[in-house]
Order: sequence, then structure tokens, then C-alpha cells
Amino acid sequence: MTGAVRDALPEAVSTCPHFEAGEEHYVLGEAELGRSKLACRSCAFRYRPVLMRSLRVALVVGTFLVLLNQSDKLFGAEPLPADFWWRIPLTYCVPFAVATYGALSNARRVPGN
Ligand SMILES: [Zn+2]
Repeated sequence: MTGAVRDALPEAVSTCPHFEAGEEHYVLGEAELGRSKLACRSCAFRYRPVLMRSLRVALVVGTFLVLLNQSDKLFGAEPLPADFWWRIPLTYCVPFAVATYGALSNARRVPGN
């Protein structure tokens, strides 16, 4: 194989240590560019690029939701209620979970389906 041909080929697809052909798996990375990784569910949930993207989505969307739903309490004259402190983290968890679920369900492949 010449160097030019080798350079034109996409990078090899990598797999996680638990990957087994024919089992449910997740295609992570940039599959269209040939830089993808096939991973089991456990490794997919810990895939750092997906987690970082979900975190960014959670920060943006969660902040909007907090401002939308809690602005009267945040900027009001009354002291903040006790339930305020657990409602705020939960508000950020919702977009994080939705973004992660969306990304992983899009990457999920079940052989035979
Ligand atoms: Zn794995």
C-alpha cells in the first residue's frame, strides 16, 4: 500500500475493551469522518465528549429555566425558601439528562433491528 493510499483511508475505528460484535453498542465520535469508537453502554455513558456537551447544554438551558421559574424568589425581597436549594440543582439535571439521553440514543445500534 502506498503512502498516499494509506493517508486517504479513514482512521481505524477503535472499540472499548468490552465491545463484542453482534451486541448492542454505541457509535461515538465523528463516524462520518471515520474517527469513531464503538463502545458498550457503560463506556458510552462515560464518554467524555458527550458528557462535556451535555454539561454545556445543562449550564445554558438550566440557567434559563432557573431565571424563568425562580426569578421572583431570586430577585424578591423575601428570604429564599428552604426548597430553593434542592430545586436549583434539579433544574440543571433535567437538561443534562435530556441531552445525554438524546446523544446516546442517537448513537445506539442494535444488530438485527
Ligand atoms: Zn466498554
